[in-house]
Amino acid sequence: MPNSLAPISFPCALGLVKERLAAAAKRAKRSAEEIDILAVTKTISAERMEEALALGLRQFGESRVQEADKKREIFAARFPPDKAPRWHLIGHLQSNKVRRAVALFDCIQSVDSLKLAELLAAEGERRAHPISCLVEVKISNEATKQGMPPDNLAPFLERAARLSFLRIEGLMGVAPLFKDVEKTRPYFSALRTLFERNKNAFLVDRPILSMGMSQDFEVAVEEGSTMVRLGSALFGARS
Ligand SMILES: *Cc1c(COP(=O)(O)O)cnc(C)c1O
Repeated sequence: MPNSLAPISFPCALGLVKERLAAAAKRAKRSAEEIDILAVTKTISAERMEEALALGLRQFGESRVQEADKKREIFAARFPPDKAPRWHLIGHLQSNKVRRAVALFDCIQSVDSLKLAELLAAEGERRAHPISCLVEVKISNEATKQGMPPDNLAPFLERAARLSFLRIEGLMGVAPLFKDVEKTRPYFSALRTLFERNKNAFLVDRPILSMGMSQDFEVAVEEGSTMVRLGSALFGARS
């Protein structure tokens, strides 16, 4: 798209995303209802997040504890039970921010080590409330990408099952960036296989397979994603 075009309005962008998501689901003979949209709001102002809430988005993803902390008014706002948003941390979590992260977020999508899992479980025990999380799996070989090596997943899940204040709800992954989006398919397919193989470890009614971003969410949906994490497709390019 030429960048001379005026940015499309947020309601319009959301409508477009929903159409593309429904079409991708249909191609895979899936129902679009099975797939949640996580609105990724890093760098997005609290005002625009209010707009997203008004349009019915109920799940938000932030990358940094500090930024979420600054938006704490929205985080702390009281919503009626059927309208309460669910907040997800999708960026790397440092051990020294575990307590703050647990206070702010409903789900930590970036668990990538047993040490972090243990710290979260300890915080859950302190609060007498299990901490919901996903395991971030490193599906690309890029050195800069976060996540647990796929081979470590099964032994990790076995050990983490003993942490009673940790509730693992599924897996998260980030595919490498390609010009040709079709090239992401084997990465998503590999994560889906890991997800299916370890499904017994996810003790919730609807385990979460969090994969697909603005660039590649249609391929991810075709490969079985149950949650797409969308920033720029909804809010426009980040500055
Ligand atoms: C920023 C981010 C996203 C959203 O990226 P877009 O390309 O803007 O959709 C999704 N997942 C993670 C882990 C991110 O850091």
